[in-house]
Amino acid sequence: MITIDGAAGEGGGQVLRTSLSLALCTGQAFRIEDIRAGRERPGLMRQHLTAVEAARAVGAADCEGAALGSGTLEFRPGTVRPGEYRFAVGTAGSATLVLQTVLPPLLAASGPSRLVLEGGTHNPHAPPFEFLDQTFLAQLNRMGPQVTATLERPGFYPAGGGRMVVEVAPAARLSPLALVDRGDLLGVEAVARVAGLHPDIAAKEIQAAQRVLDWGEDCFRTEELPAEWGPGNVLLLTARFAAVTEVVAGFGERGVSAHTVGEKAAKRMAGFVASGAAVGPYLADQLLLPMALAGHGEFTTVKPSRHARTDAEVIRHFLGTRVDFIEAADGPWRVEVRG
Ligand code: ATP
Repeated sequence: MITIDGAAGEGGGQVLRTSLSLALCTGQAFRIEDIRAGRERPGLMRQHLTAVEAARAVGAADCEGAALGSGTLEFRPGTVRPGEYRFAVGTAGSATLVLQTVLPPLLAASGPSRLVLEGGTHNPHAPPFEFLDQTFLAQLNRMGPQVTATLERPGFYPAGGGRMVVEVAPAARLSPLALVDRGDLLGVEAVARVAGLHPDIAAKEIQAAQRVLDWGEDCFRTEELPAEWGPGNVLLLTARFAAVTEVVAGFGERGVSAHTVGEKAAKRMAGFVASGAAVGPYLADQLLLPMALAGHGEFTTVKPSRHARTDAEVIRHFLGTRVDFIEAADGPWRVEVRG
């Protein structure tokens, strides 16, 4: 049994999610201690527990320690069963992170799957639906499987209530992917959405973003969603390059002005565009696992996060994969994943 230190590196939920995914992909059992010890409220929270339950269902696994607040978990996977599943995070916990946990084993499963995921689809500190769809899944689909995601209803923090449907047509195995050149910039878009909140919030976010990004006026817009979907707000900045689409999200928060949300997100997008890198900071950590399963991968990116480095360590425990983060004298970083 593999032993994983949940406090290692960043000590967050990713250590657990990556361990669950790779246990299912490899059939190896693991024990994790000090789950999320690096976080203010350590142990399994609702969203992590849903991820554990989802992994248990998909992999017919035996599991001890799956309870709210638990700091230790033992997980013994059985056989991965593709098919129809519904996973609901009882709170606004991120449904996209539950998907992140169970998707890898289904990519090379013996048949197709259809997943209904309910909970938060637009949460701070998690991939928003548009990033999942346009940034992450678009690249994953270049590796062989065909995964489509449909947003039926957005779910914002803290109310939740979102719903998405994900269909997976597996590939026999994942093919290596190189994402070194992002190619020409084909289009940009900024949209600020509010649900059950004053439309001024969206307008102010857009104004702040416009001051930072030299994009044409018709690239910016606001949208009001049905009030019963809220309260919620998200600003989505999208840059479509020939080889990759980057989606940067900003989320309205209590105590943070709409101006700050718009300016911060726009500066992150401007920084990414100026970097010349193909892969943004979040896609960088999310590509490591599928590339490791494929046996090889490489990409250019911005300065790697502690999150990505922590994830690389967990992957090495399960697969022995080597991940090199190489700083260039001038230009973007380069990441090489070798099986
Ligand atoms: P916790 O212990 O609170 O559960 P965590 O380690 O699970 O923390 P994060 O470090 O916040 O959570 O990251 C979770 C995942 O969400 C990562 O895969 C990261 O790439 C992704 N992510 C976070 N924010 C964004 C964003 N704005 N856009 C795309 N992906 C994001």
